[in-house]
Amino acid sequence: MSATLGVLLHKLQPDWTIRVYERLGDLALESSNPWNNAGTGHAALCELNYTPQRPDGTIDIASAVKVNEQFQVSRQFWSHLVGAGDLPDPRSFITSTPHMSFVWGEANVTYLRKRFEALKDHPLFAGMEYSEDARVIRSWAPLLIPGRAKSQPIAATRITSGTDVDFGSLTRQLMRGLVQSGAELATEVRVTSLKRQKDGLWRIGMRRDLGGTPMPPVTARFVFVGAGGYALGLLQKSGIKEIRGYGGFPVSGEFLRTDNPEVVAKHAAKVYGKAAVGSPPMSVPHLDLRVVDGTGSLMFGPYAGFSPKYLKTGSILDLFASIRWHNLVPMIAAGLGNLGLVKYLIGQLAASSTTKFGELKQFVPNADPADWYRITAGQRVQVIKKDAKKLGVLQFGTEVVAASDGSIAGLLGASPGASTAVPIMLGLIEKCFPDKLDGWKPTLAGMIPSYGTALSDDPTKAAAIQAATAKALQLDA
Ligand SMILES: Cc1cc2nc3c(=O)[nH]c(=O)nc-3n(C[C@H](O)[C@H](O)[C@H](O)COP(=O)(O)OP(=O)(O)OC[C@H]3O[C@@H](n4cnc5c(N)ncnc54)[C@H](O)[C@@H]3O)c2cc1C
Repeated sequence: MSATLGVLLHKLQPDWTIRVYERLGDLALESSNPWNNAGTGHAALCELNYTPQRPDGTIDIASAVKVNEQFQVSRQFWSHLVGAGDLPDPRSFITSTPHMSFVWGEANVTYLRKRFEALKDHPLFAGMEYSEDARVIRSWAPLLIPGRAKSQPIAATRITSGTDVDFGSLTRQLMRGLVQSGAELATEVRVTSLKRQKDGLWRIGMRRDLGGTPMPPVTARFVFVGAGGYALGLLQKSGIKEIRGYGGFPVSGEFLRTDNPEVVAKHAAKVYGKAAVGSPPMSVPHLDLRVVDGTGSLMFGPYAGFSPKYLKTGSILDLFASIRWHNLVPMIAAGLGNLGLVKYLIGQLAASSTTKFGELKQFVPNADPADWYRITAGQRVQVIKKDAKKLGVLQFGTEVVAASDGSIAGLLGASPGASTAVPIMLGLIEKCFPDKLDGWKPTLAGMIPSYGTALSDDPTKAAAIQAATAKALQLDA
């Protein structure tokens, strides 16, 4: 997120000085690391949580269209950077990977058929295929079928324009370009305080991460708190009133991974299933081809769990340290209002390895435990906020929290995540720099041709932009 914002701001206002502080020894070692997230270029091509079924049985595609529109914005910005030579090799961070949805059981098959009907003629979902035929599904994703009972009703959709993204590689390349353009990057430096001075500037206090030695503070006119799970605590330290009432609910995760080339060779797709009834959207099971540093692996999960840490490298005191008088009621109310989620997470924590492997076997009936090993995923800190009716609610999206004068902003939450970093940071720019926006619009439109418009309203433009970004990013059209 910080790398994206830094590059956007540099393009819009090249004379501004940009400084980036990272507490760890390198960039992208937290959520943006390729092994800490699933690397799905979220465009709602296969994620069933974006297309809920309404009580009358029809499918609501509004969220799917919104997420897809957002991903098109990211694709356009990355394409611009490729064209400008800022991201010389698109294959080093984005790869064509068909996106599939796969379900079993009569009710789920009916749902998927209806979802397909609702999306197939939409300009942003062009090319989606549907099948209930095991032979066809096997030809799309060979691991899914052998060992499965012939009597089990199954269905799948496939769209070949899906992507796998190495957000770690992308982050490092974006930041490398930014540093070459004059930005300053300091690693192993922990931001410890944010104070508003009388002259309106922000005073940023820092310590060396190792040993905690204090460093000379710096001042800034604008601060972006792109600290992932630690953004909540830093925004609280800034004292801005807009952060009052916000809390965080951390959800940990694990994936199963295999690097066995024989198994990997049989699965060239990202296959998303349907979440178990009552489980949170981030626990939708999926089996993904991952391409990291040019090498393929498969990842299955995530298995959600609970840890009070707000970062993978955080402290078990994080959750308790974030409690303030102003977020206590929303946090308790959100907890009581989501006892089902708490129960689900405890159940996941308590699940044995065999039970967890059983979930993979529902996707890959012939999976062999010898091929798979567990890896710990990144932490997701879900947003808790005040609610007039319920006192406190838990939400699964992201939220930009900014001071009313736009001098400081941070990002809370995790989904849809890194795929939508560009539109999220554009939203932040619109919120924090309203006076500059008119002057910046021509540059924005030059980098993101659909800026300010909806591609869904213009099928011809949608097709042209998808084709152009596929070409620039060397993806299958
Ligand atoms: C299990 C899982 C699966 C996911 N799958 C996907 C997916 O398939 N597709 C997708 O698009 N998104 C996915 N996401 C979401 C995505 O990973 C995140 O939205 C994105 O990486 C967040 O980027 P960020 O820059 O906000 O945070 P991070 O990548 O966590 O970066 C925050 C940085 O701030 C640093 N920091 C923290 N505190 C301080 C401090 N005090 N001083 C200095 N530095 C500090 C941290 O060390 C870290 O490097 C997933 C996330 C998880 C956890």
